[in-house]
Amino acid sequence: MSMSYPDSTSRSAELSRRAKNIYPGGTTRGQTYYKPYPIYAAHAEGCRVTDVDGVARIDFVNNYTVQLFGHSHPDIVAAVQDQAARGMCFTMPSELDIELAEMILARAASFDHLRFTNTGTEAVMHAVKGARAYTGKPKIAKCEGVYHGAYDYAEVSLDSNPQVWGQKKPEAVGHTHGAPEGVMRDVVVLPFNDVAASKQILEENADALAGILLDAVPSRCGGIPASADYIKMLKSFTRAHDAVLILDEVVTWRLDYGGAQTRYGIEPDMTTMGKVIGGGMPIGVVAGREEIMRVYDSSAGKALCSHSGTFAGNPVSMAAGIAAMKLLTVTATDRLNQLGERARESLREAFRLADVEGQVTGEGSLILMHFSTEPLGDYRATWRAHTERRAEMLVDLFRRLLNRGILFSTWGLGCLSTPMEQAEIDHLADAVLASLREIKEENRKALVS
Ligand code: PMP
Repeated sequence: MSMSYPDSTSRSAELSRRAKNIYPGGTTRGQTYYKPYPIYAAHAEGCRVTDVDGVARIDFVNNYTVQLFGHSHPDIVAAVQDQAARGMCFTMPSELDIELAEMILARAASFDHLRFTNTGTEAVMHAVKGARAYTGKPKIAKCEGVYHGAYDYAEVSLDSNPQVWGQKKPEAVGHTHGAPEGVMRDVVVLPFNDVAASKQILEENADALAGILLDAVPSRCGGIPASADYIKMLKSFTRAHDAVLILDEVVTWRLDYGGAQTRYGIEPDMTTMGKVIGGGMPIGVVAGREEIMRVYDSSAGKALCSHSGTFAGNPVSMAAGIAAMKLLTVTATDRLNQLGERARESLREAFRLADVEGQVTGEGSLILMHFSTEPLGDYRATWRAHTERRAEMLVDLFRRLLNRGILFSTWGLGCLSTPMEQAEIDHLADAVLASLREIKEENRKALVS
């Protein structure tokens, strides 16, 4: 069966024509659209996803880092089926949410209490609101260009560019058209990993800052981790100025049994999680120190920060999460991280062998490919390195990989899942090498003609 891009008579093309009549932009979810139309999924098992035209590919995106155990892991499927038959959601708490909460709380020293939400976006929103409620201060700091979900405040300066980003001190720039000025006023934007500049900006806003939102390995800053000095500075600032350090581990939780905070020795006051915690079902978590988490307590009257949600702690997500946390062992994360190291090395070798300019970054089981050898490390450097042409090259690489049985993202991000073995990594490296050689050859021909 041909793996090449499904043509206009394919089932994917047909579904896409239907979707265009229903959805703005032809999709219900921005990040699953690409031109001319997305390839539609039919079913998946292990590390392979089969499209509606019957083509199976190795999945290196895993719903943007959710499916750490691959698709339809039998333990997770059994837990979901069993729970769905017993009740999908109740207006009562269940033992399941207590069990999952206990499992998560046992994993990191910074967690005393937690609350469940339905998504990472919601977890970040509640953490930010919680930090404001705890400190009584209005502002939040975040790093320029970093994604923390769709809450207005978390989105500020997400896609800043040289026309608007200001000089040394980053401007707070609205992401969504029409974002209120008030939102920009209450977000302080920091240059990732720049200790001196960030410290100065934080100090200028110290009286008004409720907290700092940090992702320890932001992909939009090149997939390079926050330095120990940067983390130390943020921690000592928050300690000195009665502000809350919120670590966003929606993606990085997969890096260690106790997330990035364990891997890099970070001591956050609050942590947000999601994705992998739900084993494929929607979930979000806000965890943190008891005295801060108390802001959500409504047992004795109105909470300082109200938190509810019709589906928060729903038993099906909880059951899937319990099964997932049982699978997320130290051995599993260590093995996957080692496989990630080997994958990055093989991909670097592919760039070398094909003699194409590029670099491969990422941590643990996260992989990022870039068509640039310029140093990355913060948002502005990453933005400059990813010229329009290089971004197009990543989309081009994505298509060539599809034709070779590999599902990667359109912007260079990939990740591994536990059903993968060395054979899948070799398949990826061979497919990348063959694709890069094609790209090189086509560029050469274009130069000659
Ligand atoms: N924070 C980070 C670091 C994320 O990468 C994401 C999603 N990719 C979110 C928050 C938002 O999570 P969700 O898509 O579940 O709302």
